[in-house]
Amino acid sequence: MNNMTSYDEIEQKARQLGRQLELKTGQLRDMEERLRQETERCEQLEAQVNKTNEQIEALIEERVQELRAENEHLRIELDERIMMTDVLHENEQQFRALVASIPGAVYRIRIDGDWIVEFISDAIEEITAYPASMFRWNPVHIYREIIHPDDREAVEQAIGEVMEPLKTFSVEYRIIDANGNLRWFYESGQAVFGVDGEPLWLDGTIYDDSNRKFAEEALQEANKELKRLASVDGLTQIANRRQFDEYMEREWDRMKREKGVMSLILCDIDFFKLYNDNYGHQEGDKCLCAVARAISKSIKRPGDLVARYGGEEFVVILPNTHAEGAFHVAETIRAKVQSLKIPHAHSKISDYVSLSLGVSSVGPEKGMLSKDLVNAADSALYGAKEQGRNRAVLKSCPVYESGSV
Ligand code: GH3
Ligand code: MG
Ligand code: MG
Repeated sequence: MNNMTSYDEIEQKARQLGRQLELKTGQLRDMEERLRQETERCEQLEAQVNKTNEQIEALIEERVQELRAENEHLRIELDERIMMTDVLHENEQQFRALVASIPGAVYRIRIDGDWIVEFISDAIEEITAYPASMFRWNPVHIYREIIHPDDREAVEQAIGEVMEPLKTFSVEYRIIDANGNLRWFYESGQAVFGVDGEPLWLDGTIYDDSNRKFAEEALQEANKELKRLASVDGLTQIANRRQFDEYMEREWDRMKREKGVMSLILCDIDFFKLYNDNYGHQEGDKCLCAVARAISKSIKRPGDLVARYGGEEFVVILPNTHAEGAFHVAETIRAKVQSLKIPHAHSKISDYVSLSLGVSSVGPEKGMLSKDLVNAADSALYGAKEQGRNRAVLKSCPVYESGSV
């Protein structure tokens, strides 16, 4: 019985163990299942992680490639910049060399309210004797101050005319340099326009043209003097024969056009050969000068001309003067010379130097020549000599019309 009990107990125990085993086995299976599931999840996760890793690597690789490309691009850009800097530097050098070689100052002025001088080359110092810094980054009126006051308006007017595209200006003016010297400047330039067509800058050059200008002025003076010498009688300093001929032709034509009357007076010193013989040639010259002055003083109108006709003969052209008036002038001249009271001991008609005068007048017609009037006056002079000298004689000039010659 005890054995039985033990057997039952054992059996029971065995069953119990069996159940427990079953339970544990069930639990183990569950655990195994869970483990399997966990493993599966782990594998999935691992796969997921691997995939993500691959994606990350691909992304990194892609980014690396991008960065490399960007890097390369930047390197090229940097090279280009270095090259451009070199080119700019070279250009700057060239610009400076060019500016330095220009025989004058180069400038850029901003066109706005103040007209600021943004740039002006160092040459401005050489031509004005003022430091360039006096003008740079200052309003242009600082430069304007050194322009001769009489020329400022002309400069401003010239510049004002280039406020339209493609127009250039050039102007000549005087400045007073820092040493107080007058200098001639030649300036030219043009406006630079923005995309909207508004004027932004005035660019130009200023050139010291003084040497040429002064040489030109000296030449003009010399020419004037030459012209004067060519038309003035060396001894008496009144008009010479050449000027008489030119003036006579001009006025003759004018009288013809204007239907005016022209008069001519020929004056001849009486017994002048005897004067020379008696007082000497030098005294004769002095006498000629005194007579020339006296005749000139007797002439009042600006259009009248007194000239030395030759030797001791003088001629007076009186445009727009009738015979009566001309005769009156001749009488005045005669009296004036007499009143000089230049002693002439060997004169056969007076104690003093005297004049004989021939007067003639005419309204020049087409076809007539000026020498007709000269001949008539000469003939009148001959008459004055014939009639005893120291007198004026009037003689009419023969008039003929065009075609009747
Ligand atoms: P008439 O009254 O008839 O005019 O007599 P005349 O002696 O004045 O005239 P004639 O033509 O015979 O002489 C003119 C003289 O004028 C001759 C010359 O000695 C003189 N004569 C001409 N030119 C000059 C000159 O430039 N200087 C001087 N000193 N004498 C001159
Ligand atoms: Mg004579
Ligand atoms: Mg004479």
